[in-house]
Amino acid sequence: MIRITELRLPLDHPEEALREAVLARLNIAPEGLKALHVARRGYDARKRGHIVLVYNVDCDVADEATVLAAHEGDQHVRPTPDMTYHPPEATLPEGMPRPVVIGAGPCGIMAALTLAQAGLKPIIIERGKDVRSRTVDTFALWRKSVLTPESNVQFGEGGAGTFSDGKLYSGVSDPRHLGRHVLEEFVRAGAPEEILTISKPHIGTFRLVTMVMFIRAEIERLGGEYRFETRVEGFDMEGEGTERCLRGLRLSNGETLPAERVILAVGHSARDTFEMLRDAQMEMDAKPFSIGVRIEHPQSVIDVARFGASAGHEMLGAADYKLVHHASNGRAVYSFCMCPGGQVVAATSEEGQVVTNGMSQYSRAERNANSGIVVEVKPELDFPDDVLGGMAFQRKWEKAAFVAGGSNYNAPAQRVGDFLAGRPSTSLGAVVPSYQPGVTPTDLTQCLPAFVTDAIREALPQFERKLRGFSMEDAVMTGVETRTSSPIRLRRDREGQSPTLRGLFPAGEGAGYAGGILSAGIDGIRAAEWLAASL
Ligand code: FAD
Repeated sequence: MIRITELRLPLDHPEEALREAVLARLNIAPEGLKALHVARRGYDARKRGHIVLVYNVDCDVADEATVLAAHEGDQHVRPTPDMTYHPPEATLPEGMPRPVVIGAGPCGIMAALTLAQAGLKPIIIERGKDVRSRTVDTFALWRKSVLTPESNVQFGEGGAGTFSDGKLYSGVSDPRHLGRHVLEEFVRAGAPEEILTISKPHIGTFRLVTMVMFIRAEIERLGGEYRFETRVEGFDMEGEGTERCLRGLRLSNGETLPAERVILAVGHSARDTFEMLRDAQMEMDAKPFSIGVRIEHPQSVIDVARFGASAGHEMLGAADYKLVHHASNGRAVYSFCMCPGGQVVAATSEEGQVVTNGMSQYSRAERNANSGIVVEVKPELDFPDDVLGGMAFQRKWEKAAFVAGGSNYNAPAQRVGDFLAGRPSTSLGAVVPSYQPGVTPTDLTQCLPAFVTDAIREALPQFERKLRGFSMEDAVMTGVETRTSSPIRLRRDREGQSPTLRGLFPAGEGAGYAGGILSAGIDGIRAAEWLAASL
């Protein structure tokens, strides 16, 4: 097979135009092309009046060697890469306890699936509940202002991304096509096949719930075992320094589980676990992250700003955006986790705190577009000398947001017009905020540091220049968006293990090696491969 990349066609091209474009690009006669298959389809909307579709196409041609020779040196006509995944081969040494995965988020799930496929029958320890029970608890915060600290948007089967937009793309370098393997496993678990071809796939929240259950059934079929509502609270260790080895896990039910090979995939919100890791003298560093607000606009405003007359075209769907501004105080301001046609969600895992994030359904049909507008936090400036200072910093502003919202899990909110004019909001306008259980119009400077609000105030007019309507008076900002990524990075060596605790494989977003569902899944596969190689 030959893959052509970057084949550009007009948005409204007739179906047969793709075949014609392939023939022209390869410079072959029609009978020389046996079949073609779209490997990827995206669009380029940089010029609003001239949006084009961009394809990668796999072509089955009669004389592959001749066609490739004729295009030698052409980066966009190459052999189709082999993206088949082969699980690691390993056998558990006699007497060694089964491998354990801590955390059933995308990282832990893909790690456990890979270990199960390798025949290693992992045990998965998850502090939260199974995904169905967890859904009930998550909705209780949104609908009744009742938070369950161990079962919520952050904690429980499926991890942080379960109630999300389900965006499945990532900018990480992926020479082994592990991302493709994650997507294939998701399709097997019930995700629509289109995620394999669309350049920015998403699946929405409800499908994720059933997919997570399907993958659990597969892991159990292969001999894996889940333990829900069980938190890992400590390690049993043997030896000193670089010779220190893991021997067991202390669990919240009082049990000590023998364990010598463990993947730690606890996500960015496991603050008590981070404290336990610091106390266990795990090597870790404070890591930059970002904080800010969620902003909401009518989706129609974003569609027109991005697509002009093509807004609403079925090939484009609801428009997304990506914005960056480098503020004069030295901080980058950028849009984060943009959810077209979605809703802003309550995402705290701790009592007396308010945290925002975004999600959407597969249809992306809700009235508002939302995204985080967040500002860089720099450990060396904002909390030097404390490896867990980022966690305390996040907590401080999450508590301030709880108070500013009315101390009842309502979130503080402000109209963009009021925010830019430096006055508190007393009411909201045409854009109805989607955050549940509700919002309180107020002044967001009460619950964010000045360097953040200054940078956002400077950025909004710049974003308006790139996307007309972005700083519209009635756009609503809801606070605070603090859980953008992990505030720490756990060190790991070239074999994927903690340098100060042999047998522990830190992985995923919490360990600082992923930022999103797909990259967390990829890192989970890598961790499983490292674990298998260590046996
Ligand atoms: P997590 O998903 O956080 O999973 C960690 C798991 O470990 C949790 O289930 C937790 O309960 C468990 N755990 C923690 N501590 C312990 C312990 N001590 N013992 C036992 N279990 C423990 N990313 C995208 O790519 N696309 C999106 O559209 C998207 N939308 C999002 C929307 C929301 C509302 C949120 C909150 C996040 C979103 N993300 C999205 C981010 C994405 O969810 C994360 O990047 C991803 O889930 C990280 O995966 P992970 O497995 O590393 O960690």
